[in-house]
Amino acid sequence: MKDMDEKFFLCVEIGGTNLRYGVVTKDYTLKQFDKIPSKGLSDARDKGEYLKQLLDPVLEENGGVSNIMCISLSLASLMNRDRTICYNSPNIQGFDNLPLKAILENLWGLPVIMERDVNTSLLYDLWKNHMGQEGIVIGVYIGTGLGNAMSIDGKVYKGYTGSSCELGHIPVDGLEKMCGCGKKGCIELRACGKVLAEIAREHYKCQVSDIFVKYGDQPDVLDVVRMCSLATATEVTILDPVCVVLGGGVTQMPGFPMEYFIRNVKENLRTPEPRASLRIVPASPDAEAGVIGAALNAYTALQ
Ligand SMILES: [Zn+2]
Repeated sequence: MKDMDEKFFLCVEIGGTNLRYGVVTKDYTLKQFDKIPSKGLSDARDKGEYLKQLLDPVLEENGGVSNIMCISLSLASLMNRDRTICYNSPNIQGFDNLPLKAILENLWGLPVIMERDVNTSLLYDLWKNHMGQEGIVIGVYIGTGLGNAMSIDGKVYKGYTGSSCELGHIPVDGLEKMCGCGKKGCIELRACGKVLAEIAREHYKCQVSDIFVKYGDQPDVLDVVRMCSLATATEVTILDPVCVVLGGGVTQMPGFPMEYFIRNVKENLRTPEPRASLRIVPASPDAEAGVIGAALNAYTALQ
């Protein structure tokens, strides 16, 4: 058996589309990495058994359970403050009120750490860019939904009940549609990739990935970006952060109007500050961000 300093993190990022997993060393080097569609896990009736089948060979290759410090998960899921129960995961079936931590700890007898994917993403960017040790850093992730995270002095802020930073679900006057969260009129109904996909399908009959290149100057497309910028400006107005990390699949689509986004955020901030000093930095598009972010989170959680 290895001593603590030589043990590895076994990390899994469970996203709506992909399940990424790998072994990460104590200095956050990726020792092993793989990616499969998350549909298998979504369809599996027994989530624990599915993950055991997937991860047992990885454990064996790396010297067995005794060489692993913990299993660390990054999930696109709401969860309780103690990070033991998944409340729901909009794009994966069978995660409603699932006590995943206990299920997995019983399977391997290893500590299991869970965290929301937006938080592990932000931890990865703080680590990679050597920033965030002082003050507030905000992460805004425009993906299928409008994701959000916040760190204070390098630590992820989870909130009193563990459900902080639900930026996509701030109320907008005059919006009557129901949101997937069960509430009416959330800003996400006009500000996320799902809305862009609808516009692409219904107005332009094109792939959503082409929408900025082909129709990026159209008012309905720009309106989605503008609404994302208004949500961002709202949070910046309240928190006056050191910087905003901007990521998510939509921002990585060809032709994403980054300048338009930044201009709209700034136009909606007060002068002279925070408008003059606001920094918006792109999140890293690295495929392993969630897996290494899970290791970074596990290190803090195990202290
Ligand atoms: Zn909502």
